[in-house]
Amino acid sequence: MIEVINLTKQFLIKDKIFGVNKGVVHAVNGVNFKIEKGETLGLVGESGSGKSTIGRLMLRLLEPSDGKIFLEGRDISTISNKEFRKLRKNLQIVFQNPYSALDYKMTIEDILIQPLQIHNIVKPLEYKKEVLRLLEMVGLSAQDAKKLPHEFSGGQRQRIAIAKALATRPKFVVCDESVSALDVSVQSQILNLIMDLQEEFGLSYLFISHDLSVIRHVSNKVAVMYLGKIVEKGSVDDIFDSPKHPYTEALMSASPVPEPSRSIDRIKLQGEIPSAMNIPSGCAFHNRCPKRVAKCETVEPELIELDNGRLVSCHLYEDGRSKNES
Ligand code: SF4
Repeated sequence: MIEVINLTKQFLIKDKIFGVNKGVVHAVNGVNFKIEKGETLGLVGESGSGKSTIGRLMLRLLEPSDGKIFLEGRDISTISNKEFRKLRKNLQIVFQNPYSALDYKMTIEDILIQPLQIHNIVKPLEYKKEVLRLLEMVGLSAQDAKKLPHEFSGGQRQRIAIAKALATRPKFVVCDESVSALDVSVQSQILNLIMDLQEEFGLSYLFISHDLSVIRHVSNKVAVMYLGKIVEKGSVDDIFDSPKHPYTEALMSASPVPEPSRSIDRIKLQGEIPSAMNIPSGCAFHNRCPKRVAKCETVEPELIELDNGRLVSCHLYEDGRSKNES
């Protein structure tokens, strides 16, 4: 459905007063992945790892500095804005905050009619019927159409935001921390709704979250990001049950374990994630890695394929299996 090749984004930072360049933020550095029809790729990593930037690049809310984005085989990274406008309905996003994602002055009906109108999804005479269909699809009713956003709870607003995203009948949806602002009980309802809609309409999702239990629940595949790069990628079971990259191991060790009888030793990382303006040499993770070896400081590891299509970027796996396991 959608594929990114060597996706790269740099932001030039300028001094506000003198206008001189202060440096470059390397937000996304040569990222590659594919998401098939009906599949969810979970994207995890600390704040500042580049997850949300990837989501925005894929929707062309930001222009990539380099790389390609293919939607159903068509390169959408280089087409003109005019051409892209015709394709935009296929790509939608559900943001984190349902309070700011909806215009507080508009009724729900008007909010849902707007994308139908802009993208010419149905004829004007069918708007009301389509609004009703969208509301029912997300568990709301016809009585809700004339209300304003402030009359709804956070979970209901997120349902409306999902209905708005699906109004254009998209093929690919970015869910950017879409349940993070909700209570835990409401989170599960929204996650189940997102998954039910995927099954019904064959949607492909890029699901961005810092919450590993959410990622495990919704994803088929998981990509772990560190300082703008994917350091490990594989099936959700492989990543959660046997993480290989030391950074993934540390992330997973901090995740709650569903079986109380099973305990996992927490791996504490040293320090904070470095600035994306000053990425460390060699392996970008070397100054925090509990398993670093001599060459980690100077030689950047490649992303290598292990068993079952798993990809990992770490010198410990260069012979195809962990030196710790051998
Ligand atoms: Fe750690 Fe070295 Fe592997 Fe990087 S390459 S994750 S520093 S062991």
